[in-house]
Amino acid sequence: MSVFDAHDFDDHEQVTFCHDRNSGLKAVIAIHNTNLGPALGGCRFWPYASESEAIKDVLRLSRGMTYKAALADLQLGGGKAVIIGDPAKDKTVEKLRAFGRFVQRLHGLYITAEDVGTTPKDMITIYEETRYVVGRETHEGGSGDPSVLTAFGVFTGIRACAYYKMGKEDLSGVRVAVEGLGHVGLDLVKRLSEAGASLVVTDINQPLLEKVSRQYGAQAVGVEEIFSADVDVFAPCALGGILNDATIPRLKCQIVAGSANNQLAESYHAKILEKRGILYAPDYLINSGGLINVSYEGPKYNLQEVMTHVGKIYYTLLEIFEAAKAHSITTSEASDCLAKDRFNKK
Ligand code: NAD
Repeated sequence: MSVFDAHDFDDHEQVTFCHDRNSGLKAVIAIHNTNLGPALGGCRFWPYASESEAIKDVLRLSRGMTYKAALADLQLGGGKAVIIGDPAKDKTVEKLRAFGRFVQRLHGLYITAEDVGTTPKDMITIYEETRYVVGRETHEGGSGDPSVLTAFGVFTGIRACAYYKMGKEDLSGVRVAVEGLGHVGLDLVKRLSEAGASLVVTDINQPLLEKVSRQYGAQAVGVEEIFSADVDVFAPCALGGILNDATIPRLKCQIVAGSANNQLAESYHAKILEKRGILYAPDYLINSGGLINVSYEGPKYNLQEVMTHVGKIYYTLLEIFEAAKAHSITTSEASDCLAKDRFNKK
């Protein structure tokens, strides 16, 4: 099997396969690029159907972290880890500790964090074996739930989009549809409501939807209706892949700006959005508030400093929108170019 030439390998610096016989741990740690600093990225615990699926996922995710950290202006590189197994059945303290020892062996080249299938509590277990872990609970010296800062970044990003597309400095009277009222979506709704935006919301969780609708005077709609809502901004805060051939033609908004990862089903969907005159805020930039937050974790953590840094998403978005216009490329392409410039320069 060819590794170095494989499409997904894409210039990775180092890929480590970790096996611990005693605990049964099977994990892969991928380090894409450390030009800007140590590679930071979460550890995903997932029941992959095959080892090649796990490898493909870790490579794709770790590459994405390089771009995300570079655009967030962090002195960090991109990396990610996956542990193969079902978190509900296979996650044990022994496996997590064994994983921590493998992270320790890299001596700080890779810093791990929580991801799908792992929790802040798991990070405390891993911390017993290595200091190279962030995202622990606040009472354990960590920076706590990153979603609040992610939501703040998305709110800031929506303001930048409204300014660029609608010439509006504030969001009062701007109509926003929020899809997904979980950790990020709910906090975003709160901020938008305080800013005087008019809200349309949806979630598969009906009681939650009704509660949020009542609390914020938001119009509740079904999960399919949200795509054709008559709004200025569509904020996807649930699943990835929701900007696709079926949904884009139904959008009535001028702006798509939300927290969900991998919103574009395929890269060509950025072009379709652009042709429809819809401004797209690249997901990995607008949702980088949580990453920025964990990067500040430590004894000197200062929320105000973190918020100032997250606030820079506003200016980076404007820079990308201008570059996209100047070079007749999509905002996605412009953000990839800016990220590459930053991490290749050092
Ligand atoms: P969450 O699991 O807390 O919330 C997701 C919400 O979406 C839930 O309320 C769920 O019921 C709802 N949902 C699921 N499917 C839906 C559908 N088809 N239609 C409408 N609603 C649906 O997740 P979160 O932490 O709020 O993250 C939201 C998105 O943002 C995810 O894509 C995540 O990867 C991304 N993200 C989150 C963070 C963070 O700090 N939490 C950071 C970066 C990116």
